[in-house]
Amino acid sequence: MLDTTSYLCIGCPLGCRLEVDEDESGQLVEIRGFACKRGKEYAAQEHTAPERTVTTTVRLVGGAQARLPVKTRAPVPKALALAVCRALRTVTVTSPVSVGEVILADVLGTGVDVVATRTCHR
Ligand code: SF4
Repeated sequence: MLDTTSYLCIGCPLGCRLEVDEDESGQLVEIRGFACKRGKEYAAQEHTAPERTVTTTVRLVGGAQARLPVKTRAPVPKALALAVCRALRTVTVTSPVSVGEVILADVLGTGVDVVATRTCHR
């Protein structure tokens, strides 16, 4: 007997409804509903090892604002998203900061850096 899970593809505004069938042993059997290769890859990734790009802010001192917007340079495992936010709560950055500057390297050993998404001057 197959177990079917549905996902909404976020690859483009079409928003195809994807379905993933899995057998009793947890093996992925079939993916349906995609209109392009990107959707099929998204469904397989989301079903087996979902990832998210984490966007948040960190404390900023010496700048015009109190917070600096940051994000992971690449997606990290979805299960670690909350832990990444917690790790960033302990980070304080001193202005000036340039967009793209690494704020926290290799966050939680994922191999992914957290970078600034805005330039902040003193
Ligand atoms: S499957 Fe392709 S066409 Fe459909 S929403 Fe995803 S990216 Fe867009």
